[in-house]
Amino acid sequence: MTAPTSLLGLSPPELTAALVSAGVPEKAAPMRVRQLWNWIYVHGARDFAEMTNLAKDFRVQLAERFVLTRPEVETEQISNDGTRKWLLRSGPGIEYEAVFIPEPGRGTLCVSSQVGCTLNCRFCHTGTQRLVRNLTPSEIVGQLMIARDALRDWPSTSENRRITNVVLMGMGEPLYNFENVKAALALVTDGDGLALSKRRVTLSTAGVVPMIPRAGREIGSALAISLHAVRDEIRDVIVPINKKYPLKELLEACRTYPGVSNARRITFEYVMLKGINDTLAEARELVKLIRGIPAKINLIPFNPWPGAPYECSDWEQIEKFAEIVNRAGYASPVRTPRGRDIMAACGQLKSASVKQRASERSAAEKHAELRSAELARMPS
Ligand code: SAH
Repeated sequence: MTAPTSLLGLSPPELTAALVSAGVPEKAAPMRVRQLWNWIYVHGARDFAEMTNLAKDFRVQLAERFVLTRPEVETEQISNDGTRKWLLRSGPGIEYEAVFIPEPGRGTLCVSSQVGCTLNCRFCHTGTQRLVRNLTPSEIVGQLMIARDALRDWPSTSENRRITNVVLMGMGEPLYNFENVKAALALVTDGDGLALSKRRVTLSTAGVVPMIPRAGREIGSALAISLHAVRDEIRDVIVPINKKYPLKELLEACRTYPGVSNARRITFEYVMLKGINDTLAEARELVKLIRGIPAKINLIPFNPWPGAPYECSDWEQIEKFAEIVNRAGYASPVRTPRGRDIMAACGQLKSASVKQRASERSAAEKHAELRSAELARMPS
């Protein structure tokens, strides 16, 4: 007997094919797909037995062939600011993280697209972890489903959902895993399923320029660009993909991003690194550089991690920088660091696939680590 197939993450045609292969008559398949789809993505069903509008025999037949299992939750950590981080596992050495950031009136889930990363951005903790592999559609969409399970955030049709936004800003470069990310986001934004609007889903890229137009046409989510520098010689060092796709090409791709408009602005992320990219002259260059692109600028205070070669800019410097950007007419919120005490903030994610395996540590150790070690390392 072969191992049961998971139905999570399949597209409607793939689900249809799976059901037909399990003996569902072709004619009945569309209705069965609709019923299952509703149970899986609207109600978050984890077991066929819950599907009470399906005949018992059919439920048994499904359970013999298929499962609805999510990735395994290795650990869940809750920050003192309410941010939650899950370390998830799909098999030996396949570990990745998802982070939920609650805010007044909204809640954002930050999702990973790869285990590890190939980009090696100098200020990013994930960048110190080699790429293990791309996540599958089921593993990407599974992060949202696990978070909804943990937050009791089903059904998808509820008016007061806790997860209102999804950002692909976790581990990995989403545009280096294009097909899987595209398939996963199709599920995330499916109106009859998980039902998040495309405007509330943001894909962040360090600048895989050739894939940006395709992302606009085929995915249609909001776009964020990890800019972080205004001159090639600095960006080459801190975001090395810049050597392949320099600023000029990156900004041209933004200017022509399908669907970009004042109502659908591109977010430029800019990490504030003390003495590296944070002069006021650079703030002025920044506004010049993006002139003509409907944009927001998101200033991110650098989040430290053990052994990081940079420091966060001084707060007054960040404020002055933000003021210049603001005066030029761009919204420039400074991103409040969230979940630093559990290493859940931007750029702090790194999974146990390379570090000591989480499974090798005792629960008490994990707890102690949460409470003390990393808190102590973070500046207040
Ligand atoms: N590879 C994609 C998706 C990751 S998004 C991308 O680069 O856009 C993660 C965001 O956090 C990026 O903007 C990244 O540059 C930023 N980041 C990485 N390390 C950081 C750190 N230590 N402090 C603050 N932001 C960081």
